[in-house]
Amino acid sequence: MTASPRLPRPNPGDSAADRTHLPMRPLWGCGTCRAEWPCPAARAALLIEYRENLVALRVYLSALMTEADAQLSQVNRASDLYRRFLAWV
Ligand SMILES: [Zn+2]
Repeated sequence: MTASPRLPRPNPGDSAADRTHLPMRPLWGCGTCRAEWPCPAARAALLIEYRENLVALRVYLSALMTEADAQLSQVNRASDLYRRFLAWV
C-alpha cells in the first residue's frame, strides 16, 4: 500500500490551489480537478515538495506508475504512463 502524498499549497491565496490534487484509484484521475493524475496542480505541488531531491520524486513517481500500470491494465485503459508520470520531472 502506497501512502498518498501530502501536498503543499502552491498558491495559498487561490481556493482551487488550496485543495489537494490526489489520485483516485483505480482510474488514476485527480480527485479534485478530474484530469489525469498527476494533473498540473499535483505536478507543481510535487515539484515544490521535492525541490531539494528530484531523484526521490522520480523514485516515488516510478512506484506510483507501476501501481497505476497494474490497475489501469485491469480496466483496459491504455495510457503513456512514462510521459504522464516521469517525463515532466
Ligand atoms: Zn488535479
